[in-house]
Amino acid sequence: MVYICRRETFNASHKLYNPNWSKEQNEAMFGVCANENWHGHNFELVVTVKGIPDLESGMVIDYKVLSKIIRKEIIEKVHYKNLNLDVDFLQNKMPSCEILIIEFWKKLAPAIRAVSPKSELHHLKLIETKNNFVEYMGEGLEHYQDLTLKNQAINDAV
Ligand SMILES: [Zn+2]
Repeated sequence: MVYICRRETFNASHKLYNPNWSKEQNEAMFGVCANENWHGHNFELVVTVKGIPDLESGMVIDYKVLSKIIRKEIIEKVHYKNLNLDVDFLQNKMPSCEILIIEFWKKLAPAIRAVSPKSELHHLKLIETKNNFVEYMGEGLEHYQDLTLKNQAINDAV
């Protein structure tokens, strides 16, 4: 098994704010990340795909093909966007790195399988800042099917 890694970048804004909580609770939990008028990050997404190299091409998956999948499924939808407001698959969800990476997995895993049946999404790394990043390998995905905030639509408060 060989692991192929592709890095893509995107710039996006968000705020961490739970509409079910008071302003004070949000500020206590999220600090500056709850800033009402948003803040931005230069995100990096590293996608690792595993597979057995094809003997004729020498490849697990063509980097160009992998890049195209990541761009179509993720980057085109989030680059220069407001993650709270503009992204269809993040509606009413907390746009923390943890939630983002699970939602990215749901998009990428089937797309990679469809284009390249012999390879499989293995690992995602989402880097928000030099010191803060999250990783996900698909565990527990069955528990994460619905990550929408309950009780109140987040859009009511933004
Ligand atoms: Zn942030």
